[in-house]
Amino acid sequence: MGKTARLTLIHEGLCILPSRGKNSKPHFGSRFFLNHAGRCVESFQSLFTMSIEMNKKTFGFLMVTLLLVAFLGLSACAPKSTSTPTAESHTLPHWTYEGEEGPSNWGKLDPAYETCTTGKSQSPIDISKAIEQDLSNITFHYQPSKVNILNNGHTVQVNYDAGSYIELDGARYDVAQFHYHAPGEHEIDGKSFAAELHIVHKSAAGSLAVVGILFQEGAENAAFAPLIQSLPAEKTDVKDAGVTINAADLLPSVQTTFRYSGSLTTPPCSEGVHWLVMTTPVELSTAQLSKLESIFGGNNRPVQPLNDRPLVEDNTP
Ligand SMILES: [Zn+2]
Repeated sequence: MGKTARLTLIHEGLCILPSRGKNSKPHFGSRFFLNHAGRCVESFQSLFTMSIEMNKKTFGFLMVTLLLVAFLGLSACAPKSTSTPTAESHTLPHWTYEGEEGPSNWGKLDPAYETCTTGKSQSPIDISKAIEQDLSNITFHYQPSKVNILNNGHTVQVNYDAGSYIELDGARYDVAQFHYHAPGEHEIDGKSFAAELHIVHKSAAGSLAVVGILFQEGAENAAFAPLIQSLPAEKTDVKDAGVTINAADLLPSVQTTFRYSGSLTTPPCSEGVHWLVMTTPVELSTAQLSKLESIFGGNNRPVQPLNDRPLVEDNTP
């Protein structure tokens, strides 16, 4: 018998370990064997061999525990759902102002638009029974901007040059862009207006404040000429129209506002928007209004319920 064979000879009972006497049972996980000198020695085995030789109950318990730990570990790291949309894979659906994809169905078009249906602080609203208060004035710090204009398929928008802002209750909101709706979106005591301009402002923290200016038919308005002459009739990327405009000139002379907390008036209808609707409408000529309507006529969301929101009117210019 060769050395190797003798080392692997395992023979319980016949092998006597001097310290433990004849017929000693091996320790857990060990075996006796005769070494090359013919002496009886004890050898510990690998974990794998040990597990095979454990009694079935102990082995089963250990394996269940290992599998459970592995499962919990994987669950904690796994994404909630493999179908979770990502910015790369999920394009938000098209929406319109009429038909199947119109305002009454916006909330059903995509979960991202849900607030359009479920939101309780939606815009626009019919402004009536506003509570008059002496509110702190909005201060306008508007500078001229290039007319960086685009038609996004829902409105014509001017992306405003950086540096113009308003101060509202001590906070700064920078002008991001303005765009129009025709007819207007907000109503006053049930009366609708020919069009409405929205000057959208954003604070450094990301909250929005929108100044709404209502238009009614009247005299030609020279301040709007650079916008009116630059309107792109078809969907376009942003382009520099080569003219400048100053949002300060678009404001009415009396700058008191109706104020309430509302939403975007287009999907996703996000709430938490500070609405500042000018109490005094601004005049545009019939020709100017026609030009606006010729590109977008009917891009207005219907008025939404006020619910229990406070609606106040600043009564001090
Ligand atoms: Zn708007």
